[in-house]
Amino acid sequence: MSTVASVKDFVSSFMLTELFKGMALTGKYMFKRKITIQFPEEKTPLSPRFRGLHALRRYDNGEERCIACKLCEAVCPAMAITIESDVREDGSRRTSRYDIDLTKCIFCGFCEESCPVDSIVETHIFEYHGEKRGDLYFTKDMLLAVGDRYEKEIAANRAVDAKYR
Ligand code: SF4
Ligand code: SF4
Repeated sequence: MSTVASVKDFVSSFMLTELFKGMALTGKYMFKRKITIQFPEEKTPLSPRFRGLHALRRYDNGEERCIACKLCEAVCPAMAITIESDVREDGSRRTSRYDIDLTKCIFCGFCEESCPVDSIVETHIFEYHGEKRGDLYFTKDMLLAVGDRYEKEIAANRAVDAKYR
């Protein structure tokens, strides 16, 4: 550092320039509209693309969408999805096991993107927890139950985002 820069630095420290700059910034926001919210009573808006708890969806007639193609399992970078499949009596292929270990999941959304039938999706639900490891291991029945419960919201969010897909 040159002598001039050292002197400037010394004077600046002596005059508490950085401190006043910081206080000016605080003062600037003191009378602005507050952006702090009282969570959980108040919530910020979520994007329709928000990637929260997973769900498996059904068609309107109640038939599960998943065709057991295993693309989601193949693409998952965390290897969090486990699928086993079987052929039903009517000749269609369906999963006999579809598990997601949410303790491994990194919520990247690749499974959702890869699904050709919009079956596996990530919902807007982020307020859930597990008290032991097994609680976050979601089986097919649990994932279908999430889908059944939130289908209206899932469909609405996908409709909003459809033109960008
Ligand atoms: S969101 Fe990503 S990490 Fe999680 S299950 Fe889907 S592909 Fe795997
Ligand atoms: S959820 Fe979608 S991508 Fe995954 S196995 Fe079923 S149909 Fe294929």
